[in-house]
Amino acid sequence: MKHHGLLDLNEAIQNPGVKLSFEVQTELPEEEDLDLIEPITGSIEAVCTGNALLINAKFKTKCVVECARCGEPLEKELAFEMEDDFAVEGVPSCYGSDGYAEVVCDEPYPLFKGNNLNPDLYSRQGLFVSMPDQPLCQFGWDGPCPNAAITEKLKDGGHPGMQILEQFRSEDNA
Ligand SMILES: [Zn+2]
Repeated sequence: MKHHGLLDLNEAIQNPGVKLSFEVQTELPEEEDLDLIEPITGSIEAVCTGNALLINAKFKTKCVVECARCGEPLEKELAFEMEDDFAVEGVPSCYGSDGYAEVVCDEPYPLFKGNNLNPDLYSRQGLFVSMPDQPLCQFGWDGPCPNAAITEKLKDGGHPGMQILEQFRSEDNA
């Protein structure tokens, strides 16, 4: 079963040693500068040591990025793994009936709501880290790139109309 929305990790947090796992899928709908062709899918595992919540996750997705040289759109498959730990405060309820342990998270955005993890925000962190810095199209950096040739010509010679004018002028002089 694939989960949408918050993941309830309370059972793991109140019972150190109990491992929970979730299958997740998200399309990160609130992301404007990100072009996903396929949703992010993967799994998240959570286990608590008592004073730390350990999270392990594996995700994959497919997105469109731009070639760093020529700006040509490229499809990239991304697979990434994440490992994080978060501090837990309080006594887990399994140690005493009046105990309650809670995750403490100092991220500037609400990664956790109580003991519920937001898988969209979590996977987003890993996605941005694993995005290629300088993706390149099939022509790479070296050698001729037909896409780059167009943009480079425009840069060197100014407006294409002016280049044609320049050509006529030199033909007149010849
Ligand atoms: Zn290129």
